[in-house]
Amino acid sequence: MNTLLRQLPQVDALLGAAGMASLVSAYSRQEVAAALRAALEALRRDVKAGHLTQLPDFEADAFAESLAGTIDAARRPNLRPAINATGIIIHTNLGRARLAPEALAAVQAAGADHSNLELDLDTGRRGSRYAHVEHLICELTGAEAALVVNNCAAAVLLSLMATAQGRKVVASRGELIEIGGAFRLPDVIQQSGAILKEVGATNKTRVKDYEEAIDPETAVLLKSHTSNYQIVGFTHAPRREDLAALARASGTILMEDLGSGVLVDLSPYGLTDEPVVSAVLKSGVDIVMFSGDKLLGGPQCGIIAGRADIIRHLKTHPFCRAVRIDKLSLAALEATLRLYRAPHDPFRSVPVLRAIVQPLEAVRARAGRLAAALTASGLDDVTIVPSEAFVGGGSLPQRHLKSYAVSVVLPHQTPDALAAALRKARPPVIGMIREGRFVMDVRTLTDDEVTCVVGAFAGLRSR
Ligand SMILES: *Cc1c(COP(=O)(O)O)cnc(C)c1O
Repeated sequence: MNTLLRQLPQVDALLGAAGMASLVSAYSRQEVAAALRAALEALRRDVKAGHLTQLPDFEADAFAESLAGTIDAARRPNLRPAINATGIIIHTNLGRARLAPEALAAVQAAGADHSNLELDLDTGRRGSRYAHVEHLICELTGAEAALVVNNCAAAVLLSLMATAQGRKVVASRGELIEIGGAFRLPDVIQQSGAILKEVGATNKTRVKDYEEAIDPETAVLLKSHTSNYQIVGFTHAPRREDLAALARASGTILMEDLGSGVLVDLSPYGLTDEPVVSAVLKSGVDIVMFSGDKLLGGPQCGIIAGRADIIRHLKTHPFCRAVRIDKLSLAALEATLRLYRAPHDPFRSVPVLRAIVQPLEAVRARAGRLAAALTASGLDDVTIVPSEAFVGGGSLPQRHLKSYAVSVVLPHQTPDALAAALRKARPPVIGMIREGRFVMDVRTLTDDEVTCVVGAFAGLRSR
C-alpha cells in the first residue's frame, strides 16, 4: 500500500506531461488541475481502503477521457431541470410548481432590464413593490389589502410578530402542525415573541374552548391548515363564522395559515377539502397567509391578504423588510395572477392546475405513448399500471388523483440500481419503486418529457 501511495504522481508533474497538453488547450489549466487533484485524491482513498492493487496508466487515453468527463460534469449547472415522474404535482424536493411561460417571460424581462420596481411612474416618486400585485390579489380573493413576502413561513412569522408580540395566541391542539423542513407552528409562535395558548383536544375543539382562553392579554386566534395530516373519526372544529364573531366580540384578530391557498374551486374535480381563499376571507377571517408556489402555481413567495388596517401595520414592521419578495419572484407572481383573470382560463394556463384537472384519458394516452416507445426501443418488461397521483405541497393530503404509470424492470438490474442510474441521466428522471418495480407516474410529465425519459433509458444501455 505504501509503495502505491509513494508512486502516486504530483499534480504539477502530471499537468506538465505530454498527455495533458490537449486537455489543457481544450479546457483550461485550472480546470485540468482541479480534475487531476480530484482524481489523485480518489486514487489515494482507494489505495488506503485496499480497493486498488495497481495504479492506472496516467499516459493512457482512458485517463485523459475520464478527466474530460470530470471537467464536463463540473461545467454543468448543479441546479438543473429534472423530470418528475413521481405523480406528486407539487413536490418540494423537485422545486414545487412549474411556472407558466407567461411567468417565465416576466422573470426574463425583470431580470434583463431595469424596471419600475419601486418607482411610481405617474408621480416620479418612490413607489411600492407591492403595488404591482396588491390589486390583483384583492380582486382574486376579495381582500381589502395584501402584502407579499419571501414565503408562507415568513408570512406567518411576520403576521404574528406584528400583531401578537408579548401577547397571547390561541390555537387548537388539533392544528399545531409541523411541516417539512422544521416549520413547527408552536416554535414559530415562540419565535415571534408571542405566547401560545393551546385549547381543545387533538380531535375536538369548540368555540367555547377559544372563548374561555381569551383574556386581556390575547391578541390573536390562529387557525391553520392541517396540511400534511388529517384527523378522522370523532372530530370537531368550529366554523370560521363563529370564530370570527368571537374575535370581533373580544377585540382579537382571527388569522388563518392556509398553507397552500387555492384561488379557484377544485371541488368540481373531486378535491373538496381545500378551502378557497376568497371563501375563507368572506367567512370573516381577518387575515390569511398562503404560499405562492403550491396550488397557486407561481413562484416561491408568501401572500398575506385581508383587513386593510392590519396589512398596513405589517407593511411597516422591520421584519417585513427582512423577508421582502425579490423582483424576479414578484414578476413571476404578477404574471401568474394575471392567468386567473380574463382572457385566460387558469385551468388551462397554470401548469399546476392543468396537471390536476387533466382528464384521465389524456394521462392514459401518455402512459401508452411512453410504454410503446420504451418497448420499441428494445425493453422487454414494460407495463402500464393504474396509479395514484397526489397534489402534494401540503394540500389535500389524503386525496389522490386517479392516474397511470409505466412500470419497468430491466434484466440484471435491481429497481434501486435503475432508479440511481436514472437520477444520473441528463436530465435526471425521478420515479418511484413499487412492489419491486421501477414505476413512473405520467400525470406529472409533459409530452416533451416523455421523449426525454425514452432518451434516458437509451442512454443507460449505451454506457
Ligand atoms: C407549506 C405550508 C407552510 C409553509 O409555506 P412555505 O411557502 O413553504 O414557506 C406554512 N403553513 C402551512 C399550513 C403549509 O402547508
